[in-house]
Amino acid sequence: NVESTLSITVVGASGDLAKKKIFPALFALYYEDWLPEHFQIFGYARSKMTDEELRNLISRTLTCRIDKSENCGDKMERFLQRCFYHSGLYDSEENFGELDQKLKEKEIGRQPNRLFYLSIPPNIFVDVVRCASRRASSENGWTRVIVEKPFGRDAQSSGELTRCLKQYLTEDQIFRIDHYLGKELVENLSVLRFSNLVFEPLWCRNYIRNVQLIFSEDFGTEGRGGYFDNYGIIRDIMQNHLLQILALFAMETPVTLDGEDIRNEKVKVLRSMRPVKLENVVVGQYKGHSKGGKSYPAYRDDPTVPKGSITPTFAAAALFIDNARWDGVPFLMKAGKALHTRRAEIRVQFRHVPGNLYSRNFGTDLDKATNELVLRVQPDEAIYLKINNKVPGLGMRLDRSDLNLLYKSRYPIEIPDAYERLLLDAIEGERRLFIRSDELDAAWALFTPVLRELEEKNISPELYPYGSRGPVGAHYLAANHNVRWGDLSGEDS
Ligand code: NAP
Repeated sequence: NVESTLSITVVGASGDLAKKKIFPALFALYYEDWLPEHFQIFGYARSKMTDEELRNLISRTLTCRIDKSENCGDKMERFLQRCFYHSGLYDSEENFGELDQKLKEKEIGRQPNRLFYLSIPPNIFVDVVRCASRRASSENGWTRVIVEKPFGRDAQSSGELTRCLKQYLTEDQIFRIDHYLGKELVENLSVLRFSNLVFEPLWCRNYIRNVQLIFSEDFGTEGRGGYFDNYGIIRDIMQNHLLQILALFAMETPVTLDGEDIRNEKVKVLRSMRPVKLENVVVGQYKGHSKGGKSYPAYRDDPTVPKGSITPTFAAAALFIDNARWDGVPFLMKAGKALHTRRAEIRVQFRHVPGNLYSRNFGTDLDKATNELVLRVQPDEAIYLKINNKVPGLGMRLDRSDLNLLYKSRYPIEIPDAYERLLLDAIEGERRLFIRSDELDAAWALFTPVLRELEEKNISPELYPYGSRGPVGAHYLAANHNVRWGDLSGEDS
C-alpha cells in the first residue's frame, strides 16, 4: 500500500493569472488543510527564475483568511518551501523531460499523481499538452490537465482544439475551467432549487415570466484590450459564464449529484435551445465620457485596441429553451464593460398574481407587484426575494419588501475564491463544475451563427458613455419580449 503524492505544475507561472489567482488559491487550500499531506508545486515558464525568485514573486500575493490569521507567517514559509521552478520552452519535449526528472526526485517512494494547470495563451495549449503527456505524465498515478478559457473562437476552432487535445489526453483528464461555476452563489443555485419545497414547484413556465442573467463591470479594458478585442463580450462572458449559469438554472433534476449526471442534464438543456438570432441581440461599445471634472476614455482610445474596432464591449440577448418546462419563457442576458456598476446576478421574475385583489394598490403598473428572486453572485453575495407587504398602520397601503439573505450578515466568514474550489475539485477528480466537450460543442452551436453574422455584416455597436447603464437598445430588446430589466428598476441598491 504505497502512499500517494501530488505534484501540481503551473504552466505559465510567470504570468498574471498564476500570480493573482492560482498560487493564492493553492496557498489557501494548504492553509485550510485541504491539500494532501505529500505535495509539491512547480512553476514552469520560459522566464529564467530560481526557486527562490519564484517564491519571492508569489509570496507577495499570498494572503491569510482574515478570521484565522494565527501562524500565518509560518504556514506561508512552509508552503513556499514546497514551491519550485523549472524554466523551459512550451514546445520542448526535452524541457518537459527535465521537469519530469525534477518531479521524480520529489515523488520518490510514493505513487505520483500529477496535475498541470495551463495558465498560458491558448495558441500554445496543444504544444504543452503534447510535451507534458509524452514526457511528464505520471507513470502509475493519474495525470490531469486544467485548461483556462478561451476554448476556441467558434464551433469550428473549439472542435479543433478538442480534437487536438484528445490526441494526447482522454476526456476524463481534461478539466475545462469556467471560474463562474466555482462561485458560491452559483453552487448554491441547485441547493436552493432542489432542497427547498417552496422553489422547485415554481421553477417552470407556469410561474416564471422571465429570467435575467446580468454581468457588469465598472471599468473598461484599461490597456489590456489586445486579448479582448479578438473575442468581444459575447465570447468573453455570454457564451461561457452566463450560458453555464443558465444551463444550471434551467436543467431538469439530475439523477444524482454525480458530475456526469449533472453535466448530462446541462447538455440536454443547451441542446433544447434555439441558436441565438441576430434580431434578438443588441451590441454596444463604450465611448469617452466626462463626469465631475474627470474624463473616461472610449474603448477605441485604448492603445492596445485596433483603430476603428467594432468589437462589442456590451451585449444583450434573448434566448429560448424549447422544452416543456420553459416553452416561451425569455431568458435575457446582458453583459458589459465600463458600466455604472459592478455586479453579476440572476434575476427571476415571476408571473402576476391572477385576479390580484390588491391590484388597485399598484395602479396600472402591475409589473411592480410581481415577485422577483435575485441571486447576487458578486459583489456582496446575497439571495433576496421581493414580496408585497402591507405597510403597518390602519390604512391599506402595500409596499415592496425584500426577504433578504445577505451572506456577510448570516455567514461572517470569508467566502473561498472560485479558484480554490475548482482546484480542489480537480485534485479530487470531481468533474461537476468543469465543462465536458459535448457541453462546449452545444454552447458554441448556440452562439456561432450570430457571431458570424455580426462579423460578416460588420454590424456597428451602439455607443454608450463610459459609466452609464449601457445602450438604449437593450431596453427595446427586453420590451420586445415584454421584459423590464430588474436591475434598472431603481429599487435595488
Ligand atoms: P499572460 O500573463 O499573458 O501569460 C502567462 C504566461 O504565458 C506569461 O507569463 C508568459 O510566460 C507566457 N506567454 C505569454 N504570451 C506568450 C506567447 N505569445 N507565447 C508563449 N508564451 C507566452 O496570461 P494570464 O493573464 O496569466 O492568463 C493565462 C491564461 O488564462 C490565458 O489563456 C488567459 O486567457 C486565461 N485567463 C486569464 C484570466 C486573468 O484574470 N488574467 C482570467 C480568465 C482566463 P513566459 O514568457 O515566462 O514563458
